[in-house]
Parts: sequence; C-alpha cells; structure tokens
Amino acid sequence: MVNAAGKFGPYNQPGPERAASVTGVGHARALPGSGQSGSELVRSRIALRVRLATLIPGDRLPDVGVLADELGISEITVRRALEGMCQDGLLDRRRGRAGGTFIAPGWDAVVALLHNEEEAASLDAFHLLLECGLVAHSSGEVPPEQLERLQALVTEMDVAEDPTRLLELEARFHLDLAETLGGSGIREFAADLLGRLCLLQPVPEPAMVRAQNRCHAELLAELGRGATDPAVRAVKAHQRARLG
Ligand SMILES: [Zn+2]
Repeated sequence: MVNAAGKFGPYNQPGPERAASVTGVGHARALPGSGQSGSELVRSRIALRVRLATLIPGDRLPDVGVLADELGISEITVRRALEGMCQDGLLDRRRGRAGGTFIAPGWDAVVALLHNEEEAASLDAFHLLLECGLVAHSSGEVPPEQLERLQALVTEMDVAEDPTRLLELEARFHLDLAETLGGSGIREFAADLLGRLCLLQPVPEPAMVRAQNRCHAELLAELGRGATDPAVRAVKAHQRARLG
C-alpha cells in the first residue's frame, strides 16, 4: 500500500468503493468525510482552494509531487485524479514549455453540473453535527483571544462587497472555527467536508451568506459567555439560513 494514510485515511481505497453511499448505515464507510478515496481528496482539496481563492480559474496547479506530499497520497493517485478532473472539464492540460495542469476558465459552470442535492444534504447534516459537537465540547473553555480571531472574520464579512471574497471568508470562518474548537486535525476533517460541499452544493447567494454571518456573530457571543445551548442554537440557525 502506497497510502501514507492521512489522519482520517485510508484515502487510497480502490475506485469502486467511491460509489458507496454516504447515507449508508452500519457500514464503515458510512461516515461522510471519513472515507473519501484519494481521488476524491484531490478533487475536494482543489475545490476548497478555489473557494478560498488561493487558486483561481486559469491558475497553474502545483506539480503532482507537491500535491502528493501535501495530501499524503501517492503521485499515481494524484495523477489519476487530475486526469479525471481534466475529463470532467474542471482542469485543462496544456503541453509545451508553459504547459502544466490549470484550473479551467469555466470552473464554475462545470461545478454547477456536478451538484448532487442528496449527497450535499447528507454532508451538510454531518457538518452541522460536527459543529454542534465542537461547540458543546468547548463551550466556556475557548480563550477570548481565539474568539477575537474569528470575530475579525465576521467583521470583515460584514463589509465585504465582492461575492467571491464573501464566499472565501465564509469558508475560512468554518475552517478556523473547527481549528479553534477542535485543533488542527479537526480543521483537516472540516476541510474534507467543506471541499466536497463546494462541488456538490450550489454557490450561496450573498444575501444568504450575510444572514449566516449574523449567526456567526451570535455564535461567537454565546461561546464567549459560555452559553452552550444558545451557541448550539446559533449553529443550527446558520444551517436553516441556508435551507431558507
Ligand atoms: Zn458560515
């Protein structure tokens, strides 16, 4: 096995396993986020980077070896995943001296074709449980300076005009929240979920993200005073804002 097994690996499951339903019950792979294949990991991490605007359409991807190291999976798995993404139209491969693998200019349009409401709902429900659990687990124990870092993101979101920037900050808030409340391993776990959701869920409207940001503010206020139940309610209200 070439799998370097990420913290929540094994990521190098053979292809057919990918078809396993995330809604399954009584199966080791039933937990969304815990059993994605190496290919899915590559896809979801690239999708997350596009959401975080660390990669934008037209950008050249890092070399295969760099991606493999970063993700803790084999180069051949990365190569195979990139080929699949090229076939889907998410990536472009260009030959020659200035060649390489690039985020396709039509990334957003292609992603829109990949949306899967059922799978998204399942992952979204799991993400909600993760955040509720983290909030209940650490309520009253979060150092104020760590909440300030999250508060800075909320303030920035309040004034962000650019929809892309707003989406980027929204994703950052949830990654930083996971890290603040659960540590760096949980941040990686949240990144798995959020990256996959980037490919499965329609991009939220700016008005919706702003409504969600009011839930962020409420959550931080309640966490600050150690009020567990209201903090959990703010996490749930955040999800309801998405469901409309
Ligand atoms: Zn949010």
